[in-house]
Amino acid sequence: MFLVKPQNRKSVIVALLAVLWVGLLPVSASAATALKSVRMHEAPDSTRVVFDTDAAVTYKIFTLEDPHRVVVDLQGVSPRPGFDPAVVAVGRDRVASLRAADRSGNYRVVIDTKTRLTPKAFTLKPIDPYGHRLVIDLIEPNPSSPAPRIVAPAANRDVVIAIDAGHGGDDPGAIGPKKILEKNVVLQIARRLKRNLDAVDGFRAELVRTGDYYLPHRKRTQLARDKRADLFVSVHADAFKEANVKGASVYTLSDRGATSETAAWLAERENRADLLGGVGDVSLTDKDPVLAHVLLDLSMDANRSQSIDAGRAVLANLGRVTRLHKRRVEQAAFIVLKSPDMPSILVETGFISNPDEARRLSQAEHQANVARAIADGIEQFMRLNPPPGSLLASQDVPANETRYTIAPGDTLSAIAQRYGVSSSTLKTKNGLRTDTIRVGQVLLIPGV
Ligand SMILES: [Zn+2]
Repeated sequence: MFLVKPQNRKSVIVALLAVLWVGLLPVSASAATALKSVRMHEAPDSTRVVFDTDAAVTYKIFTLEDPHRVVVDLQGVSPRPGFDPAVVAVGRDRVASLRAADRSGNYRVVIDTKTRLTPKAFTLKPIDPYGHRLVIDLIEPNPSSPAPRIVAPAANRDVVIAIDAGHGGDDPGAIGPKKILEKNVVLQIARRLKRNLDAVDGFRAELVRTGDYYLPHRKRTQLARDKRADLFVSVHADAFKEANVKGASVYTLSDRGATSETAAWLAERENRADLLGGVGDVSLTDKDPVLAHVLLDLSMDANRSQSIDAGRAVLANLGRVTRLHKRRVEQAAFIVLKSPDMPSILVETGFISNPDEARRLSQAEHQANVARAIADGIEQFMRLNPPPGSLLASQDVPANETRYTIAPGDTLSAIAQRYGVSSSTLKTKNGLRTDTIRVGQVLLIPGV
């Protein structure tokens, strides 16, 4: 304690301020940003390290060689008591060890990597259930640029189906009763779907996500493109705010707006996942947006009608094994469906927020039925729309029949006339009830 002369009011205030300042010091030290946890997810070509903090962090990151390591300085950060960096790296493929130490008010984390990895860091703002995060992707050097898309297709090649199990890693997707997680259920269904399709002659399925890690939406379609997929199927099991909502649905991309309120709600939910798992702060803008947009719109139009046909076939088959939420193919602005170069559908296998459906979706028998139905729908669509050069394209059409793809300006009667058959024969052959045809639709023309 100290004494002040009462007549000197100014010095009293100064003295009080001094007491306050000293008194505040320990408080401000303990108010440093806390590092709550460090998590690691391994993806096929990168390892993601996530630092969970209780406030936004400022950081510096750099790499050192010999041995390879990535150094992260977190400004004004202290670890929570008992935090042990060493356990984070145990048993990892690319990371040998994790070390950390206080360094003049900063917290320095050293990630010892087994090979040279390129770090890409960004921060994410809180979004339920996560708080502030610093994400560092440790990326393997690009082994080779992806094979060019335009390449002479092998004769009688397999039709390639890209199966995208939604969510993963940091992003659990919908969470059902008894902690049934969408990310696990859809990966199980995706694996079954792959087995079903691989068993069909002329088909090959590729899983976009092969384990429990997150992939940004655009990365998913890029992976499918690298596999030269003929069709992209995203598998989900969603939740709605009301637990009684149930049934499967199939979505394709809408050009604007969603066809129903549920569709809008779900699209927002699925798209939000990129903020959760990861590319929220990374700009993905194109260098030449105007041209890119025009090209994208053109090729999306062609694929949109194919996507709807594929969606219809899958929905019809799903209706055999599960309740349907919507009897027609819904359209919504899912980012993951925005692929200009392949028909894309998104299957909501059911509502995990519905206790009964959550239970069924986690059961092997129901998963098998759902996977079978999706596979059957895809097979039917592909047999009617076989890609050029595929084994399917060489099969099925009897020698005297022709496949005709509707072009702009075509009418059913004009096509009938051109091939010397009647309109009613064409309709019967193709299961059409009216004369309405769509550009891109494929008709089987019977031989005469
Ligand atoms: Zn989902």
